[in-house]
Amino acid sequence: MLAIDLDPAERAILADARPRFEAYVASAPAVTDLAPVDIDAATAALPAFERSFLAVRDLNDAAIAALERRQAMARSTESSIQDAAIRNQVIGAIAICFGLLLLTLLLGRAIVRRLQSLADVAHRVVAGDLAARAQVGAGDEVGRLATAFNEMADSLTAFVDQLEAEAQRDGFGTRLLDALEMADEEEAAHAVVERAMAEVADGPMELLLSDSSQASLAAVVVSSAGAPGCPVKSPFSCVAVRRGVPVVFETSEALNACPALRDRPQGACSAACVPVTFMGRALGVLHATGPEHEPLGDDQLDRLTTLATQAGARIGTVRAFQKTQLQAATDALTGLMNRRTLENRLREMSAGGRSFALAMCDLDHFKKLNDTYGHEMGDRALRLFARVVSGAVRDGDLVARHGGEEFVIVLPEANRHFAATILDRIRTQLAAAHLDGQPPFTASFGVADSGQADTIDAVTRLADTALYQAKEAGRDRVAIAGGSTSVSAGEHVIAEAVAGVTGGVRAATRFADAVDEPDPGATGTEIR
Ligand code: GH3
Ligand code: MG
Ligand code: MG
Repeated sequence: MLAIDLDPAERAILADARPRFEAYVASAPAVTDLAPVDIDAATAALPAFERSFLAVRDLNDAAIAALERRQAMARSTESSIQDAAIRNQVIGAIAICFGLLLLTLLLGRAIVRRLQSLADVAHRVVAGDLAARAQVGAGDEVGRLATAFNEMADSLTAFVDQLEAEAQRDGFGTRLLDALEMADEEEAAHAVVERAMAEVADGPMELLLSDSSQASLAAVVVSSAGAPGCPVKSPFSCVAVRRGVPVVFETSEALNACPALRDRPQGACSAACVPVTFMGRALGVLHATGPEHEPLGDDQLDRLTTLATQAGARIGTVRAFQKTQLQAATDALTGLMNRRTLENRLREMSAGGRSFALAMCDLDHFKKLNDTYGHEMGDRALRLFARVVSGAVRDGDLVARHGGEEFVIVLPEANRHFAATILDRIRTQLAAAHLDGQPPFTASFGVADSGQADTIDAVTRLADTALYQAKEAGRDRVAIAGGSTSVSAGEHVIAEAVAGVTGGVRAATRFADAVDEPDPGATGTEIR
């Protein structure tokens, strides 16, 4: 075996080769193992890996330099064949060393390049470019690392997509809430629902709501794509309302599909039905249909549910508010406006400069009726009177329960004489109205108009005084404020003193006849 004298530099190269190779090989797993679990830590390990690679490359450069030196030396001695053999062997040994180093260098460069590219992709993903993916290349460690990274990026993208969808839905919910908050009337809320439907899905959709009695369902909003035409008649015939949760049907032909989906003109379909409720009470249902086996997707169903929830909350609130307002404005027993509401309306009318006639009405001997037939029968009589008066006046006339068995009738743009004819009509219709098991009853009226006094209170006092005159004159009659200039029509009576009094229809069976009553003639009134 040939012994070669190596100079110190060459010995140093050979001595360094092994530890540098080992360091290089040892630092690679730090990068490849960390990358799937912690790309930042793997990136942080890259510089050490690169340093070990550069150390090997430096060694390679030193080996090349040594080889070149040996070549130069061999060429300059030009000695014997033995020298030539030695030279060739040295060249061969160093060439092998060089080849190994070159191979390592190329390999290392490629790995570092691929890892660097993977780190770049990772940073692009972290910076928000979710479409960035690593090139997998060879099926080695780095290739597997790239595959694992891409899988992680895929699931990250799916997660972000889901978050975006939720954010969008929340955005829809927020915009819907804003829009519904601006809807003061139920019709305005319906209009918002119609616009929102377009953001839920493209297919036919409708909002079916029950009336306040909860008896029947009717489509109040239909999407621009048309109405699915749900034939369900009442809230509790609807399976979604009964269950209180959204229900999705893949096909109307399924055995367990809602029966109301079958036999629709458009044929077999898929459907989604979401109950619309307010404080646990069913208001109706939001109903969407689509092609068979293509029901709404999860996101669309979520939006439909958001729409149903918010529409229910708003429509329920508007209805409750209107009901409260109505209750505050009306008399619970008769449904007529109450005294406070009447006063407001009269003030508006007076402020608008409108003329009016005002009649005070009082049921005759009502205490006796209550005492004889019971309070419940008295209540029925009050309701009957309210119905008769409401039916006898025009739209725009005001009828109010003033309190007890007293009522006020206001006829805009009318004078007291015209009003007296209307009041007579009321008396006549009251005489013709019957309640089961109850004797007829009568009412007395005093009427004045805005031409007789400057203030509402003053007109009211005049009418009240005339009413008193009607009572004094024998009840069941109309007294016109203003003395002798009162109307005379048919059965009217003229009061000479304070009010004109009209009187008349008095059936012998009237309840009033059963009580002790002054003779009309004795009050000084004239009976025509
Ligand atoms: P007059 O012909 O002079 O008006 O006699 P009246 O009995 O009608 O008058 P009075 O003021 O003596 O009695 C009014 C009665 O009306 C007393 C009260 O019991 C009755 N009343 C007032 N409010 C109601 C009500 O809401 N329901 C019933 N059933 N009765 C009422
Ligand atoms: Mg009274
Ligand atoms: Mg009375």
